[in-house]
Amino acid sequence: MSMEEGSWDYSTLWEETLKHMRADFSEQEYVMWFKNLIYNGSDENHIALAVPSSFYKDQIIQRYQNSIEDKLLELQGTPIKVKFVIETKQRAVAKEGKKNPASSKNSDGRAEDDRRRHPQLKPEYNFENFVIGENNSFAANAAIAISRNPGTAYNPCLIYGGVGLGKTHLIQAIGDSLYSVSNNQKISYVAAETFTSEFISSIQSGSAHKFKKKYRSMDILLIDDIHFLQGKIQTQEELFYTFEALYNSNKQMVFTCDRPVSELKELTDRLRSRFERGLNVDLQPPDYETRIAILRKKTENNQVPISDDAIELIAKNVTTNVRDLEAALLKLVAYADLVNKNISLEIAQSQLRDFFANPNQRIISIEAILRSVAEYFGLSFNDLRGKRRTKAIAFPRQIAMYLAREMTEYSTTEVGIEFGGRDHTTVMYACQKIENGMKTDSTLEPMIQILKRKIMEYRMSS
Ligand code: ADP
Ligand code: MG
Repeated sequence: MSMEEGSWDYSTLWEETLKHMRADFSEQEYVMWFKNLIYNGSDENHIALAVPSSFYKDQIIQRYQNSIEDKLLELQGTPIKVKFVIETKQRAVAKEGKKNPASSKNSDGRAEDDRRRHPQLKPEYNFENFVIGENNSFAANAAIAISRNPGTAYNPCLIYGGVGLGKTHLIQAIGDSLYSVSNNQKISYVAAETFTSEFISSIQSGSAHKFKKKYRSMDILLIDDIHFLQGKIQTQEELFYTFEALYNSNKQMVFTCDRPVSELKELTDRLRSRFERGLNVDLQPPDYETRIAILRKKTENNQVPISDDAIELIAKNVTTNVRDLEAALLKLVAYADLVNKNISLEIAQSQLRDFFANPNQRIISIEAILRSVAEYFGLSFNDLRGKRRTKAIAFPRQIAMYLAREMTEYSTTEVGIEFGGRDHTTVMYACQKIENGMKTDSTLEPMIQILKRKIMEYRMSS
């Protein structure tokens, strides 16, 4: 049955239905959910609606399919079912162009490579990889809505929640999605810490006007971890003016924070009130079903299979956050690789016993990183923390700094202190260097992976 071929046209009926929905639901709900449903054809007893993503589809079905069908029955007098087809913006664009059939394999989100990638964003932090559950659906759908209609209903948007719950993933997914369809829009993702140090060094070098101009001319500004701004009054003031400039020209801003804005200390009232404007949404720890779904998603492309039992075991025992789920999984995958065996329940139980027994072990220490990196490169712990700058030491040190930022919650300032009292700019430079290095040197990424596993191992065995 092809919906497009029938002579049934329910587009007017659909318009009418939408009007009723708008009256029945709050404006916020309407904008978030119904505005993005696009009439896509019909037959005698179906209407097809295009939705922007599979998450959106699941959510719509769960929340609104019944109300929509009830309304259709009421208006039409006969039962009409709705069906949803996923039509990403990219696909819609490709369809309009129609000239490039080769790129149509994009539709399943797989041919990632020919997609435009923003240099500041991690490619894996996209909506396709983000699992939506009850714990995060409001935030996730707000993020999707923003990426469809930036600068409108949810501006600014502030996403808050504890460590490892997906704040960075979501804020970057917004950037990724907008970037993939933008033409020359200025999109910036920046950690509050980087924003701060960029601001400070712009003052020191007498180029503050350039800094101001740069951020005040963004079309989309995404600032991660604004709790870092506590006590940084001058930077707060600068951000306040940036905010005003962008807000007044309807440019979208998204912020993340590790707690509700009301709990931030040493924050000026006027900036606080700006953060609280718009939409504030929270991320909660994932429930059991979502944990299972996340683990499945993360093992989709694994070479060595992990049994369902083992996945359930992890989901039952690791309840804190997604980062810990990933850590448990990484531990198992590391083992599976080593012994080249499928992961059964028994193996998972024995491998993860310590991990489950001692939740504190989940916190990776800088010491574990320093020791693992030192061992891997045949150096000593003190070499990495010491002053010597020979290449044989400097490079491993930079890798260790990068890993410390990747795997822990330490700020660059704190990492600097742990690395023998170095300045945070040194740490930032190291991270930048390794990240750039991974783009050009294909051996670096596998090396980082090996090191990450070693660090996990170290943590388990100590
Ligand atoms: P935060 O910034 O809140 O500390 P992150 O965004 O860095 O957390 O998330 C930690 C890890 O967990 C990342 O690897 C991220 O991809 C993953 N993650 C978090 N939430 C989800 C989710 N809902 N689905 C898939 N992966 C997730
Ligand atoms: Mg984060």
